[in-house]
Amino acid sequence: MEKLGKNHGGYHGETIDIHAVLREIEAAAQSHGWNSELFYKIGDLKLFALSLPRRSATKTRSRIYISTGIHGDEPAGPLAALKLIQENQWPSDMELWLLPCLNPEGFILNTRENAGGIDLNRDYRNPKAAETGAHIAWLERQPQFDLYLCLHEDWESHGFYLYEQNPDNRPSLAEQMIGAVGKVCPIDRSENIEDRPAQNGIIRPNISPQERPAWPEVLYLISHKSRQGYTLEAPSDFPLPVRVAAFVAAVKTALAD
Ligand SMILES: [Zn+2]
Repeated sequence: MEKLGKNHGGYHGETIDIHAVLREIEAAAQSHGWNSELFYKIGDLKLFALSLPRRSATKTRSRIYISTGIHGDEPAGPLAALKLIQENQWPSDMELWLLPCLNPEGFILNTRENAGGIDLNRDYRNPKAAETGAHIAWLERQPQFDLYLCLHEDWESHGFYLYEQNPDNRPSLAEQMIGAVGKVCPIDRSENIEDRPAQNGIIRPNISPQERPAWPEVLYLISHKSRQGYTLEAPSDFPLPVRVAAFVAAVKTALAD
């Protein structure tokens, strides 16, 4: 599979009608038994959290948090959320929280940042944006998560890759996810990705949240809400359906373990 070669200096690929996608997500979620909680509103744009109660007995990795749409020029995440909700193949012994779009204004503008020019994914230490403040307030009301998955895209990458955070050295899900994604989407097997050493599409960064002034969402999560998680990066220079399929494969694999 060849790169499209469309993205120079930024994302210039497909865009989505975020109003329509969010309407479809809410409708599909409602028909499959999800609860929806509105936690912030910007005009007629809604920030909402979906939750799906456990349908049978518990198991170890049972509380799963999935978020996406924090960067408005990364449309594959909200579309993957829609597809996963519509397919409705969630393991019945898991409790799920799904935030399908954390930056709806960014999608209207097709920008990484919100309408105020703030990169929300650097705003989780001392939040300035109202969206981030409302999201953190929501997170504070939730239980601890056994696993988080944050869905992103990278317009410069040569294929799919992921970051793992796993400070307690629990069984890793990284290799299985890369294996499943590799069947539907190229993997970036560069030895260096985003200035970090990588191996077969997996980056295991050493992070010191206390030394970082600008926290992405995952630094908040790993500091306060979860001890294992993955940032999934789909390659924006491949067709949108390929990127959506990559996310769907990765999420299903992580949850099937
Ligand atoms: Zn992103």
